[in-house]
Amino acid sequence: MGTALNWTYFDIVARYKRMRGFNVLFPQGWDCHGLPTEVQVEKRYGIRKGDLPAEKFRDLCVKLTTENIAHMKEEMNSFGFSIDWSTEYRTMDPSYYSKTQLSFVQLYKKGLIYRGEHPVNWCPRCETAIADAEVEYGKRKTMLHYIRFKIAGESGELMIATTRPEYLPACVAVAVHPEDQRYRKHIGKKLEVPPFGQAVEIIEDEEVDPAFGTGVVMVCTFGDKTDVRWVNRYKLPVIKLIDEKGRMTEAAGKYSKMTVEEARRAMVEDLRAAGLLAKQEELVQNVGVCWRCKTAVEILAKPQWFMRVLALSDKVLEEARKVRWVPEHALTRFIDWTKSMDWDWVISRQRIFATPIPVWYCTGCNQPIVADEKQLPVIPSKDMPPVEKCPSCGNQSFQPDPDVLDTWMDSSITIAVHAGWPEIDPRLFPADLQPNGTDIIRTWDYYLMVRHLALFDRAPYRTVLINGMVLGSDGRAMHKSLGNYVDSTKARDKYGADALRQWAAIGASTGSDIPFSWKDVEFAYRFMRKFWNAVRFASPHLNPDIAKLDAGKISFRPVDRWLLSRLNRLIKNVTGWLEDFQFNKALGEIHNFVWHELCDMYIEEVKHRLYSGDKTSEAVAFTLYHTVLTSTKLLAPFAPHFAEEIYQTFFAGSEKKPSIHVTKWPEADESAIDESAEKLGEIANAVISALRQFKSTKKLALSSEISGLEIYTPSQILAKQLEEIAVDIAGTMRVREVKITAHRPELRERVLSVEPNYARLGTKLRGDLKIVADALRRAKLQEITEQLSQGKITIKEAGKTIELSAEDLKIKREMESKGHRVEVIDIVEPTLTLLVSLGGGP
Ligand SMILES: [Zn+2]
Ligand SMILES: [Zn+2]
Repeated sequence: MGTALNWTYFDIVARYKRMRGFNVLFPQGWDCHGLPTEVQVEKRYGIRKGDLPAEKFRDLCVKLTTENIAHMKEEMNSFGFSIDWSTEYRTMDPSYYSKTQLSFVQLYKKGLIYRGEHPVNWCPRCETAIADAEVEYGKRKTMLHYIRFKIAGESGELMIATTRPEYLPACVAVAVHPEDQRYRKHIGKKLEVPPFGQAVEIIEDEEVDPAFGTGVVMVCTFGDKTDVRWVNRYKLPVIKLIDEKGRMTEAAGKYSKMTVEEARRAMVEDLRAAGLLAKQEELVQNVGVCWRCKTAVEILAKPQWFMRVLALSDKVLEEARKVRWVPEHALTRFIDWTKSMDWDWVISRQRIFATPIPVWYCTGCNQPIVADEKQLPVIPSKDMPPVEKCPSCGNQSFQPDPDVLDTWMDSSITIAVHAGWPEIDPRLFPADLQPNGTDIIRTWDYYLMVRHLALFDRAPYRTVLINGMVLGSDGRAMHKSLGNYVDSTKARDKYGADALRQWAAIGASTGSDIPFSWKDVEFAYRFMRKFWNAVRFASPHLNPDIAKLDAGKISFRPVDRWLLSRLNRLIKNVTGWLEDFQFNKALGEIHNFVWHELCDMYIEEVKHRLYSGDKTSEAVAFTLYHTVLTSTKLLAPFAPHFAEEIYQTFFAGSEKKPSIHVTKWPEADESAIDESAEKLGEIANAVISALRQFKSTKKLALSSEISGLEIYTPSQILAKQLEEIAVDIAGTMRVREVKITAHRPELRERVLSVEPNYARLGTKLRGDLKIVADALRRAKLQEITEQLSQGKITIKEAGKTIELSAEDLKIKREMESKGHRVEVIDIVEPTLTLLVSLGGGP
C-alpha cells in the first residue's frame, strides 16, 4: 500500500506534466542491495550469513530480488504507472554498481572518503556496522543499579548508578560535574571498579548530568556516544569488551563468551552477593535499535570506511533551503537531521549482498590500494589491484577488502545516473522532482544531497515531494509484522486500480499519513460507476459537430451557462492544485463537480430539453460534450484506465488523438467564468432540490406532475432571476404553471385533526388525560383553530380548567391559498417561499 501511495503521487505528476506538454523522464531503477534482502534470505532458508560461501549466499539474494522485482513490476503495471521501462536498471548489476564504485574512487581522490578506526553503531545480530540513520530509538523499561565503588587508598566509597553494569570491566574513568559540590574534593583521586578492582581516575566534565543517579558516571568503552567523546577528549584507553556477535570478550574475564544480557544478570548477582549493590530502581530509557531487526545497537570500534559528511553540513543546509519542499515542514526534518549528526557516515558494511568496496590492502604495510577508474567494476576478491607493487613499501602481495558498501551508497547517486552519469545530460540534471516517503527524508534525501554536492558541487533536485505513511485499521503504520495491513493486490482485484489510486490521492493532504480506508476506495468505485452511467446516458447527444460550433452562435439557457462557468472554474482550480501538488484538493473538486453538479443537477435539469428535441437541445449537446470530455481529461492523471475507457468509447473518433493521455490539458476560458450565471444556476438548483425533496417525502414519483407553483420573494432582483429560470424549473420538475410573486401569499391554516401529545401530557396530566382526550374529540376544529392562533387552548371540563399549548397537541393541518389546498416549502438560501399545488381542487 505504501508503494501504491508513493507511486500514485509520481504518476499523477508525470501524467499531468505530459498533458501540459512537457517531455517527462519517468525512470525506474530497483534498489536491490541491503540488509532487508539478506534477512529475508536468512529467514527463508533458516541460515545465517556465515553458513554459506559468500557467493552462494549472494546468489540466493539475487534470486529473491529477481522474484520480488517481477512481482512489483507486475503490480506497478496493473496500477497503470506510466514508467519509461526502457530506463530500467538494477543496482545489483555490474553496470550499476560500477557507478557506485566510480563515485567511491572519485570521492576518495577528493579526500572525502577515508578509512579510520572510529567507534560505530553495530548490530550484533546482523553483525555489521550501521549508520546513524539506521538506528531507531524506542522507549524501554530497564533497571538502574546503584553500585558501590571504593575510593583507592582511603576508607570511603562513592556510589554510581548505571543501567549497564556489564560494562564495568571496560570502565576507564569516572566523571562528575565540575560544579557539583558533593564531589569537588574527590576530583583527581582514583576509584576501584568492581568486580575486578581496576583503579580509574575521577575526572570532571561539563557533560555530566548531576541530577542523573548519584551525579557520578562511569566512562566505559563504549556504553554510548558520550563515552566516545570522553575517550577522545581525555585520551582514555579503549577496552574492547563486546565482539561482533554481541558476546563478551576476554576482557570480561569470567564473563567472557556470555551475551550482553547474560553478563548483565551474572554481574548483578555477583555484586549483590559481594554487598556492592546498594539498590535498584526502574527506569524508562531511550534505546537505539537496528532499523531492520530491532536488536539493541552496541558501539564498537573497528577499522571502517567513512564519508566525510560533517564537513559538508553547512553546504548541505544552504542548498536544502533553496529546494522546494512539499509539504514545507519536510525541510525542517531535513535540517534537524543534518544538524543532529555528530559522526561521519560509516559507509562500509560487514555484509555480503552489496556493492564490493573497490579496495585492496598491502599485506606488508596495510596501505589501502583503491581501484583505478578505468578498471571498474571490480570484485576485489576476484580481480587484481591496479598496481603491481605497493607504492609505500614495494610489497607485491595484496588482500582484498572483504567488506561491502552501505546500500545508500548505491541509491544516493540515482539522480546523476538517471541523467546519464558519467556523461550527464544537462536537461536531466538536477532533477525537477524527487518523490519519496516521509520516512526516508533523513536517508535518501539527505544522502542524495550530500553525495551530489560532494561529487558535482550541485544540489541534485529542485523539488522534493513527500508522501506520508499508510496507516492500518489500528492507526499504526501499516506493516506485515503488525498484522494490520491490506494487500494492495486484493484491494485492486475488488475495486480496480483506479479506485485505489483515487484513495491514495484523496485520503490525506500531501505529506500527511493516510489511513487505509475501504470507504474511500468504495466511494471512488461508485463515483466511476456514476460518471460512467451519466456519460452513457449523454452519449447519444455527445455530438462533435455541435461541440465544434462557435459558442457565440449557440443560445444557452442559464443552466448551461452555469455549468460551463463551473467547468472553467474547475479547470482553473484543479490546475492550481496540481501545480501545488495538492492532489486531495484537486480530486475532491473533480468528484464534487462531476457527481453533484454534472450528474445530480445538470443532466437531470436538461433531460426535458433533450427529449423535446427543440432548438435548446443544441446548447445541451455543446455543454455536455465539453463538460464530459474536459472532466475526463482532468480525471486522467488520477484514474488513467477509466479516463481512457471513456475517451476511447465516446471521444476518440472525433478528437483524433490515440489516447486521452496525449491530449492537451484543458485551459480555463476566463470569459466563460460568470458569477451571475453561477448565481442563477444555484437558485435553480435550490428550487429544484427542494421540489425533489418534497416529492420524495410525499412519496410521489419524481416524474409526477405539479399543477401549480407559486414562488414568493420580496426581492425584485431575485424575482427577475426567477423569471429567467422558471422554464427550467418547470421542465425539470414537471410543473404546469410557475408564478413568481412579490406579494406574500395569503395563507390560511385549516386544522384537520387534533389529539393529545401523549408523550408530553402523560406525566403532566395523569388521570386528567382521558378528560382532555374526550374534550378534544368533541371540540369543533374551527374553534380550536381560532384558539390556537392565540397561542393556547383552554379546556373546561368537570369543574377543571386545563390549558394546553401547541406542543401539548398533535395537530394535522393543511394550508389553503385562495381557496386551494397548497403545500408550503421554505427555502433558506436564497430566502424563498414555494407554494405547491398538486391539483385535485380545494
Ligand atoms: Zn540488525
Ligand atoms: Zn605496503
